[in-house]
Amino acid sequence: MRMRVLTKKVSVRVGLIGQLDPKGWEVVLLQAAAAARRQAQAPYSHFLVGAAVLSPRGRIYSGCNVERVSYTQTTHAEQNAVDSMVVQEGPTVAEAVAVVAAHENNCVGNLASPSEPYAETVRRVRRLTLPEVPVPCGHCLQIIWENCNGRRDTPLIMVTGEFYPYVFLTTIGDALTMPFGPEALGISYGSGPSGRRDT
Ligand SMILES: [Zn+2]
Repeated sequence: MRMRVLTKKVSVRVGLIGQLDPKGWEVVLLQAAAAARRQAQAPYSHFLVGAAVLSPRGRIYSGCNVERVSYTQTTHAEQNAVDSMVVQEGPTVAEAVAVVAAHENNCVGNLASPSEPYAETVRRVRRLTLPEVPVPCGHCLQIIWENCNGRRDTPLIMVTGEFYPYVFLTTIGDALTMPFGPEALGISYGSGPSGRRDT
C-alpha cells in the first residue's frame, strides 16, 4: 500500500545566556523562573525546577516543583506557573514560557554567564542531537499547550544545569510536534467564545 509521508521540521536555537538582551523578555522570564526554582520543594529528587509564563496583560506568573512523599501527587513547575496565571487572570493564554531546571547543587540560579563557558559543556553542545535537547516533560508540554490557543509559535526558553550556561529557545509547536488540545474541540481562552470570563 502506498502511503503518504507527512514530515515536519523542528528547530531549537542554542546560545549562551550572555548573548541574550539583558532587558529582553527572555531574560526577564528566565529570572522569574530562576527565582521560583529557589523555592522548590524537592526533598526526594533534589532536582529543582522553576517556570514562568508571560500573560497577555504583560504579567509574569511563576511556579516551582512541589514534591510529595507519595510522588504521584507532585506538582510540576510548569503546571504551577500556568495555574497561577489562571488563578489571577482566569482562563487565558501563555504568551511565552521559561523553564530553569537543575540539581539543587547546581549554580544555574543566578543565571550568570561565565565569560569562558566550561570546555566540556561546549563540546557536548557541539555534539548535541535533537533528542538530547532538554524540554519540559510530556505532562507539562500538554499543560502549556492547553493555554496556547493553538499558537504553535509560542516561545519556550530553557536553561538546565546539564548544559549551563547555554540557553535553548524553541516553540511549543516544535517541542510538542503533534498536539491534541482544546482547539480540537473548538475551545479557546481569552479571545474565543469560551474565552476569559472577565467580571
Ligand atoms: Zn513536568
